[in-house]
Amino acid sequence: MNATLQNWLTGQIETLKAENLYKVPKILETPAGGRVRMNGKEVVNLSSNNYLGLANHPKVREAALRAIDQWGVGAGAVRWIGGTMSVHEELENRLAKFKHTEAVLVFTGGFTANSGCIPAVLSNEDVVISDELNHASIIDGVRLSSAKYKKSEGYVYAHKDMEQLESILRATQSFAKRMIITDGVFSMDGDIAPLPDIAALAEQYDAFVMVDDAHASGVLGKNGAGTASHFNLYGRVDIQLGTLSKALGVIGGYIAGSAALKDWLINRGRPYLFSTAHPPMVAAALIAALDVMENDPTPMERLWANTRWWKENLAAQGFDTMGSETPITPVYVGDEAAAQQMERLLWEEGVYALSIVYPTVGRGKARLRTMPSAAHTQEDLEFALQAFVRVREKLGTSALA
Ligand SMILES: *Cc1c(COP(=O)(O)O)cnc(C)c1O
Repeated sequence: MNATLQNWLTGQIETLKAENLYKVPKILETPAGGRVRMNGKEVVNLSSNNYLGLANHPKVREAALRAIDQWGVGAGAVRWIGGTMSVHEELENRLAKFKHTEAVLVFTGGFTANSGCIPAVLSNEDVVISDELNHASIIDGVRLSSAKYKKSEGYVYAHKDMEQLESILRATQSFAKRMIITDGVFSMDGDIAPLPDIAALAEQYDAFVMVDDAHASGVLGKNGAGTASHFNLYGRVDIQLGTLSKALGVIGGYIAGSAALKDWLINRGRPYLFSTAHPPMVAAALIAALDVMENDPTPMERLWANTRWWKENLAAQGFDTMGSETPITPVYVGDEAAAQQMERLLWEEGVYALSIVYPTVGRGKARLRTMPSAAHTQEDLEFALQAFVRVREKLGTSALA
């Protein structure tokens, strides 16, 4: 091992530890679900994106097993060089119908879909206009492009600030193409982008819109078709990114849009061109997950019933859920150290909920991030609520605003 590298790594890790930013993953010892065993401990898991409980759904598991019998376990090549099996095509056709778009192209993950799509649709004559709270994978995709995008140059608007978006649109009319990009559901605060206003502004100023629906997929809209469906904006959002890794319970990401967009990404989307296709069992499991979403309303009803119960009961106990509108439910703490202490005490009580602190959110805006799901029972949520109340008592009410 090169000593220069080794010393650098050690130094960086020490800095992370000193700044309280060092992460150690907990290890799940059971399938994803509402109640799991992690690091040898039974806990109610409030930190999973398995919104609909599909990650361990019997029909989805069965489909994956059948696909292994039929197809084996690997695709053997990148999508365009013989790695595309009919099951991959079937998934894309199903997703296009589900999304009411001409076409869908699947990537191996949502992160990859952002880094594949964003640079492919932009040139150095273009500009990207971003919400300041956009997800890291959007930011990385934008950085890979040759377009202008920087906050310091005035191309980032304050969170959901439509007046500022409009003034940026007025100031950028000389660019060849302008892309407005936003999370559909913001991953830390659980609020929803004002997509109708964004679409109207885009139309008025001849810009186009890309929405990252990672946390809206399976959560908002008809059968979970996302924010465009939720707001009835069919045909008015140019590029929709969805994830297959969160509510759909498996892995993958996709871009939904026009047939020309798909054609272009097949030719210029670098992760599509240079990274191996999903194992066929992944595509088959996802088709089964879509079957469940389209034919069985129970998981989505449960998700939303649990979400309403959780938010109402946290509020009734005096917790501040920061105006979140979706299952992502922040519980406001404020002070960083108090939030981290609360996470530790909740863990001792048998609840896994992560604290989110600076720099992921602003200084002094620390919170616990909780996500109820269809996989939670009423008892799980009651257990978790009691734990929150007890932990607050231990910390002293002053720890919470
Ligand atoms: C999780 C997430 C992604 C990445 O999706 P994966 O399928 O997990 O790679 C992209 N965008 C947002 C907003 C996300 O929350």
